[in-house]
Amino acid sequence: MSATLVCPLDGTVVADEAEPAPGTCAGCGAVFAGGGTSPPEAVARALAAWGVEGDPDIIARRLFETDPGDPPAPALAITSDRRDGFYLWWVFARGGPDAAVAHLTGAAPPA
Ligand SMILES: [Zn+2]
Repeated sequence: MSATLVCPLDGTVVADEAEPAPGTCAGCGAVFAGGGTSPPEAVARALAAWGVEGDPDIIARRLFETDPGDPPAPALAITSDRRDGFYLWWVFARGGPDAAVAHLTGAAPPA
């Protein structure tokens, strides 16, 4: 199976006709994970991969309500890959997953 996945924060292609695997964007350094069939599932998988606490439903909703803003501020963003017939959702975190989730949810950044 192959797919194309583009970083939503800077437009870098992180998987080109290949199965995406969690990793780091070569363009902006954002880490990404997920691969879920729905946004909340992708968020849940990303949080688990990063070891970050959070409510996947709330975070997924906020991802669609919030503009990621300009770098270098921490940011969390979601996108879907492109593949035949269906797609999977992926979550990108700029500035470290902890800070990016805290920024999105309005919590104080980790000390
Ligand atoms: Zn990027």
